[in-house]
Amino acid sequence: MPDASRLVETLEAIVGPGFCLSSPEHLLAYECDGLTLHRGSPSAVVLPADKTEVVRVVRACRAAGVPFVPRGAGTGLSGGSLAECGAVVIECSRLNRVLEVDPEDRVAVVQPGVVNADLSKAAAPFGLLFAPDPSSQQACTVGGNIAENSGGPHTLKYGTTTNHVLALEVVLPSGELLRIGSRTGWDFGYDLVGAVVGSEGTLCVVTEATVRLTPLPEAVETLLAVFPDIVSACRAVGDVIRSGLVPAALEIVDRRTIEAIEASVYAAGLPADAGAVLLVELDGAVAVLAPQMERVRALVAGQGATRVEVARDAAERQRLWRARKGAFGALGRLAPDLYVHDAVVPRPRLPEVIDQILAIGEKHGVRLSNVFHAGDGNLHPNISFDRRDPDELARVLAAGDEILRACVAVGGVISGEHGIGTEKRDFMRLVFGEDDLAAMQRLRDAFDPDHVCNPGKIFPTTRFCVESNPKARGYDRVSFDS
Ligand SMILES: Cc1cc2nc3c(=O)[nH]c(=O)nc-3n(C[C@H](O)[C@H](O)[C@H](O)COP(=O)(O)OP(=O)(O)OC[C@H]3O[C@@H](n4cnc5c(N)ncnc54)[C@H](O)[C@@H]3O)c2cc1C
Repeated sequence: MPDASRLVETLEAIVGPGFCLSSPEHLLAYECDGLTLHRGSPSAVVLPADKTEVVRVVRACRAAGVPFVPRGAGTGLSGGSLAECGAVVIECSRLNRVLEVDPEDRVAVVQPGVVNADLSKAAAPFGLLFAPDPSSQQACTVGGNIAENSGGPHTLKYGTTTNHVLALEVVLPSGELLRIGSRTGWDFGYDLVGAVVGSEGTLCVVTEATVRLTPLPEAVETLLAVFPDIVSACRAVGDVIRSGLVPAALEIVDRRTIEAIEASVYAAGLPADAGAVLLVELDGAVAVLAPQMERVRALVAGQGATRVEVARDAAERQRLWRARKGAFGALGRLAPDLYVHDAVVPRPRLPEVIDQILAIGEKHGVRLSNVFHAGDGNLHPNISFDRRDPDELARVLAAGDEILRACVAVGGVISGEHGIGTEKRDFMRLVFGEDDLAAMQRLRDAFDPDHVCNPGKIFPTTRFCVESNPKARGYDRVSFDS
C-alpha cells in the first residue's frame, strides 16, 4: 500500500516515465483553468493511456488517501478542473481516440480526451456532426463537455450535451469500472447518465462515451443584423422566439467585443458603426429557408436593425463564426485578465437585464462587454481587468456579484453552461435551499462517499481546505506572476 509520499513513484510506475508530472514548472500549467482568479497546485498530474491505467491511478490515489481531479483541456471557466487539497490531476489528453463512427445508427464511441471539433471532423465524411459546439470547440474535450453539460451557439435548436450522450463508461471513486446508459438511447432504471452529465467531474472519471450524431443540415443561411444598441438587439431576439421560428443560433455581440475582434486575428469585417450585432443562423431544407429569412428580416427591422448582411457562401459563414467563437480570445487583448460570467434569464427579460448589467458595470467602473447565446437567454457579461490592481479586482468581484443577483431576481439561474466549479459554489444558496443542496449532496455521496473525486466543487462550504470566503482565498493579494 503506497503512502502519500510515495504516490508519485507509484503513479509513474502505472503511466510510465514522462506521463507523471510533478516538477513545479510542469505543475504551474495546471494551477488554474480558464478562470484565472482561482488557483490550486496539484501534487502531481498523470496522463493515463487507457481506462485500465485510469482505474489503477484512482486506486493508487485512494490507497494513499489523496483526492483526484479529472481534467480535459482546462478550458473550463468556473475552476472545475482546479486541484484543491493537493489533489492529483488525471489529465485525459492521451485518451483521444474516436473508437467508432456508425453512420447507420448515427452514433460515435469516443474516448474522453477527443477534442470536440475533431469528433465533428471524423463524422463529417458520413454527413454527420456532433451538435454541441462550445465556442472553445477547437480545444475543449468531449469529457469536459459531458462534465459541464456544455452548450454552444447551436444549443438553441439542438440542445446541450445531455441531449447527445447515450451511454458512458466511467471509473467510480472506488476504482470500479462501470457502464451506464444504452447505445440505443432507450434506458431503464435510474438515469445515471443524466446524473453524470453536468456533474463537473465530482462523481466519476468518464473513460468512454457513446454519443448521438446529428445529420448535417441540407442548407444553412447566416444573417448579421446590425443594431444601433444592444437592447434593441435583445428585443429582436424576443420577437424571433415569439414568432415560432427555431433558428439554429441567435447570438449577440456588442460594440466593445466587435472592436476587440476586429483588432485581432479573428477580424471578420464586423460593422464598426454597430452598437451590437445579432447573428442569426437558420438551417434545414432549402425550400423553407427563403421564407424564414424574409421573416427574420422583417422582425429585426421592426426592432430598429439598420441593415442585414447575409453570408454569401460557406467561407463568409465560417468567417463570421470564427469571429464569434474567437470573441473571448480577442477580449484577451483588452486586459491581462478576463472574467467570463455565465447566467441565464428568461428570454423576455433580456432587454431589462442587459440594461441593468450595463448600469452595474458603469456603477463599479469596470470594463464590461457582452457576447452571448441570446436565443437561450444565456448571458456572458465579460469583465476585462488586471488582477494585480486590488481596487479594480474588488470592483470586478462586486460587479459580478450584483450581476448574478440581478439575473436571479428575474427568475434566472447562476450558470448556463460553464458550471459552478469553485467560482460559484458560494452563490448556490441564491437559487437552492438547504434541502435542495442536501439532496444533491446525497446523490454525490452515493457515488463518492468520501469526497475524493474533485473535492471542493459545486457545494458551498466554509470548512474546506480552502476557505470559500473571497478574502480568505487571497483575492486581495493574488499576484499576477503566481
Ligand atoms: C474561449 C472559450 C469559449 C468557451 N465557450 C463555451 C461555450 O460556448 N459553451 C460552453 O458550454 N462552454 C464554453 N466554454 C467553457 C469550456 O470550454 C467548456 O466547459 C468545456 O466543456 C470544458 O472542456 P475541457 O476539456 O476544457 O474541460 P476542463 O476545463 O479540463 O474540465 C471541465 C470539467 O470537466 C471535468 N472533466 C474533464 N474531463 C473529465 C472526464 N474525463 N471525466 C469526468 N470529468 C471530467 C473536470 O473535472 C472539470 O470539472 C468556453 C471556454 C473558453 C476558454
